[in-house]
This record gives sequence, structure tokens and C-alpha cells, in this order.
Amino acid sequence: MRAFLLLLLLAAPPPAPAAGRGIAVRVYSLHKTASVMVEPANGGIVAGGRTIGGRRRVSARGSAVVLEGASAAGPSKSLRFTGALWLSGKGLPRRLYRGELVVTAQKNLLKIINNVPLETYLAGVVSGEAGDLSHPEAYKAQAVTARTYTVKHLRNHAGEGYNMCDSTHCQLYTGLGEVSARARAASEATLGEMLLYKGEPAAAFYHSVCGGRTEDMTYVWPYEYKPYLVSVRDGPPGLPYCSIAPGFRWKTRIYFTGLTRLARRAGWLVADEEASGLRISAWGVSGRAAELEIQTQRRKVRVPATDFYHGVGRRAGWQAVRSSYFKLLPGRDYVLLDGIGSGHGVGMCQWGAEGMARKGFKYRQVLRHYYPGTEVGVHD
Ligand SMILES: [Zn+2]
Ligand SMILES: [Zn+2]
Repeated sequence: MRAFLLLLLLAAPPPAPAAGRGIAVRVYSLHKTASVMVEPANGGIVAGGRTIGGRRRVSARGSAVVLEGASAAGPSKSLRFTGALWLSGKGLPRRLYRGELVVTAQKNLLKIINNVPLETYLAGVVSGEAGDLSHPEAYKAQAVTARTYTVKHLRNHAGEGYNMCDSTHCQLYTGLGEVSARARAASEATLGEMLLYKGEPAAAFYHSVCGGRTEDMTYVWPYEYKPYLVSVRDGPPGLPYCSIAPGFRWKTRIYFTGLTRLARRAGWLVADEEASGLRISAWGVSGRAAELEIQTQRRKVRVPATDFYHGVGRRAGWQAVRSSYFKLLPGRDYVLLDGIGSGHGVGMCQWGAEGMARKGFKYRQVLRHYYPGTEVGVHD
């Protein structure tokens, strides 16, 4: 009987945070840092049970943390801060956090976790993700997708003691210093709402600019398929909803010398191989490149377009190849990528949502357009 109960307890999924619940986000997750400055944003903050009024340094000492200066505390296993505070430090962007901050250390490096209400976190995420958009209905669509994405990915870092990191690995979250009134209003107006497919939270992928047609998920992530992540035309032919996006069209020149370097580092080419040509060898339903072929002195190497896009992104900057929606125009020692759109093309087109909103569509209509067969509802 006891064993059965224990099994039940082990098998029980973690509770999903509905509205009012909290989320644990690791902040500065891409930085390795041994110390951080903590500063109350308004009045005092409580640190380890006492109030501090000014800027203090928190440092890692092995696997312990120390609060330095007046009302010093530690070394202890963890330090807990409550109240609005600014974090900053050498090499760290200055950021505002609310809720609770728990600081621990491992091998002289800090691990900082922000426990924050889900809706507060979302307002921060939406401010970052929808920063260039302006229409309230586009913000609402973004709030619903970001909330759904969050709830679906709460176990991303389950083994590490928090739900999500603050980088694009999970969802970009740069704190609450630049939360816009629009983002806050959109998360409040859609409180608890998620994108549901057959009553369950959907995989709410989104991207910046589709370029006129979104892509089937399966051409971007082979072997993955969702019936609502299929290619849809983004507005009337010749005048896509997202054509209002800045940088809708782009051109990038890729020299074969650079391509050779990139392809060797990615393991697509061996050390003595030189790239001498690049062509598209397969297309997705939207017309995006699905596969590319690199020509060398002795063979043709096929590379999934997604890997190419990520490979170039990592090594040459995300702005170099903004999407896999491009034509290739050959040059003497280079190819010219003549492209449209930005991002992977799956799910909601953020600038298309803005375009639809400006034409009078409501956020539920926007979401139905990009995720056919889904509905918006509260999931508990
Ligand atoms: Zn992550
Ligand atoms: Zn679009």
C-alpha cells in the first residue's frame, strides 16, 4: 500500500502554474559570475531576514554566498532577497527584478534564481518579444503565445532546480526594467488564457516575419509534426500582413572562403575541402529552403537548411541570414542570398499579427489564423 502511494506521488506531474502561480527563472544564465551588486529599487529590500538600504555586493565563496558591507551576512548556503531590486556587475547588464531572488553558489560561481508570479514574468517576456510592435491586439496574441510556450516548457531545467533560463534557449527575459504598459495590459487582458489544441496547451512557436507564408513545422524540425503548425498564407498574395515589418527584404553575400571556414567548423566539410558552390536542393511547402548543397572539389554535401541557418547565425551573427526564405544568386567567389522574412517561419508571424491587428482583426482571430484548429481558453 505504502509503495503504491509512493509510486503515485512520484508519478504525479508537477502542478502547472495557472494565473497567480509562480515561476522560477534563472537570471544571467549565460554569464559566469562570481559576484553581483544588489541595490533596492524603491526603499529597502530584505536580505536573509534583515533590511538593507543601499548597494551591496554578493559574492560566491566556494559553494557558499556572502553579503558584504554593512549588515553583512553569510557565508551561508543561500541568500534570499525580497522586494524590487536592481542587479548589476562587471560584464552584467543592469536589470530590475521583483518577487524573490535566491542566490546560491557552486565552484565560486553564483546561481541566481528569480521566483516571480507567472503574469509578471510574462509582461517582461512580452515587452522583449513584442518590443517593436504597437497594436494592443498584437500584444494580446503575443501574451497568449508566450504564456502557452512558458507553461509547455516549465520542465526545461527540471533537473537544475528552476523552470526556465532567461536566454533564448527558453525565452528571453531581461527583467522588469523595460516592461511596457502595453505588455502589462496585454497579459492582464488575457489573464490565464492559453492556446489550446483538443483542450491541451499547444506548442505555440512563433517567429518575427514569415515573408508571406508560414512553414510546416516538419520542414524546419524533421520528424516533428503538429496539425496546427502547418503552412498558412499570411494575407493576400503580393501583400502579406507582415510586409509592414522593417527589414522585410534582405540580401547577404556569402563568400566561399567564409563558407569553407564555417562548414569545416560545423563538420560538414573535412579539413582540406573547399566550398566552391552553394545551391538549394530541397524546398518546404512555403518555398523556404529545406536543404542546401555545398559543392566542393570532389563531392556535394547536403545540409538541412535549419542547420545552415543556425550555423551561420552562431558564427556570423543572426542578422547575416535572417531566414531560410531566400533565392541564391551565384557570383564569382560568392553567392548572394536574396531573402525575405526573419526567423524559422513556424507558427505565429509576429509582424503579421501586427498587420492583421491594424486591419481590425482581434487577437483570437489572429491566433486562429496562424494556428488552425486551435482555440483560446483557460487551462487548469
Ligand atoms: Zn533554458
Ligand atoms: Zn508573415
